[in-house]
Amino acid sequence: MFFLKPILFIWQLPQNLLGLILCFVERAKKRQEFGISYYEAKKPGPFMKYCAISLGSFIIADAAVADKASLLHESGHQRQSLVLGPFYLLVIGLPSITGNLMDRLLHKKWSGERRERWYHALPWEKSADRLGGLKAKN
Ligand SMILES: [Zn+2]
Repeated sequence: MFFLKPILFIWQLPQNLLGLILCFVERAKKRQEFGISYYEAKKPGPFMKYCAISLGSFIIADAAVADKASLLHESGHQRQSLVLGPFYLLVIGLPSITGNLMDRLLHKKWSGERRERWYHALPWEKSADRLGGLKAKN
């Protein structure tokens, strides 16, 4: 259905626009790995260092963290975006960024494994793992 892609693009317009801007700013190049299309930032700026993010049609990842698990996780966020459309940034994006910042600020002394477990137990992250086909981490 040729008209579905433009409709889905418009349905997810806020995150698609942010994704386009971020791809441009990070000079991210399109890649395909593990059956997932994404944009890889080989030399990420301060916002994308060790990060991966899903914004509508765009998964953008620092090359250093673009492994199978993180790409599957982001593809789960992509599915959330398809369902939530213009509400994605409010319902998933904002809590996800808040959780990420909280983790970076408050859990510096925790082990990497404990931090991962905490982060992926957050309901919107757990949902992304499930939708991306990842097994539960806790
Ligand atoms: Zn996530």
